[in-house]
Amino acid sequence: MSSHNQSEIFNIAQLTCPLCRSKNIKLHYNIKKYTLQFKVDKCADCGFIFMNPRLKDRAMIDLYSENYYTGNAEYSYYDERQALKHSEYVWKKRVKKIRQYTDSGNFLDVGCAFGGLLKTASDYFTPFGIELSKYSGKYPKSLFGDNIHIGSLADHSFKADFFSVITMIELIEHLADPAAAVSECFRLLKNNGLLVIQTANMDALQAKLLKDKYAYYMPGHVSYFSKSNLVDMLQRAGFKKIKIFYPVEFGLLPKLLKSRYQFKSGFDYLRWVRIAYYHYISKIRFGNFAATSSMVVYAFKKE
Ligand SMILES: [Zn+2]
Repeated sequence: MSSHNQSEIFNIAQLTCPLCRSKNIKLHYNIKKYTLQFKVDKCADCGFIFMNPRLKDRAMIDLYSENYYTGNAEYSYYDERQALKHSEYVWKKRVKKIRQYTDSGNFLDVGCAFGGLLKTASDYFTPFGIELSKYSGKYPKSLFGDNIHIGSLADHSFKADFFSVITMIELIEHLADPAAAVSECFRLLKNNGLLVIQTANMDALQAKLLKDKYAYYMPGHVSYFSKSNLVDMLQRAGFKKIKIFYPVEFGLLPKLLKSRYQFKSGFDYLRWVRIAYYHYISKIRFGNFAATSSMVVYAFKKE
């Protein structure tokens, strides 16, 4: 981006850490691989990494244009409509795992995109969704009507103590104020309700070795957590019981089956070696150390 329009794209830089309010923040990386270049800072006190300065709301919304979902943008979400049958392997396992803890009630997917997870969840739960993008949000809206809110966790009209389950799958890294978002989820959950968060663990070896080349650094991502950042934030919001899964909360098979949506020939099965390797190396962890960045967090509201 040329320098003359920086002020149209970015807010004024923040002087404190968005998580712990420390003033002890330092430039971590200049991310230069995209047309939209940006900086990330790291808090010297809590280790939280965040885009600074942040994108203005308008610039954030522009990132999630149709091109983001059709894979034509520089930083894309895969279009789950192309992979519906294959993604279902993962969604089914995800819903099955959730049902070990809570097996009915209202289910909210924040950042529900085309509604794939909600459609799977609707076999057991009453589905609700929040989606910022009008483009993708019209698909779940056509299935579930007013249960789908086009907007954010800051401007919906859902009631407190209403949901048994709230999921935020690869969503929280997109939020400028993640602490407010998890506090809002806490308020919306019923007693014993479950919040599921999937995001990258920036404390993992994978992120540390790749440094500024790590693929997670992209313009749509503004908040980069370590496991301990996430746990601390959830505890501050009131969550008592927290459980973490590496790399995800289900086994290898659904991931292998899902990956076939990209396959073009029999040789593509060789990709399974890489996927399996990643899956098993992700199990290596002790204390705050983890080999890969994949993690899924279950947080329970208990009073
Ligand atoms: Zn901090």
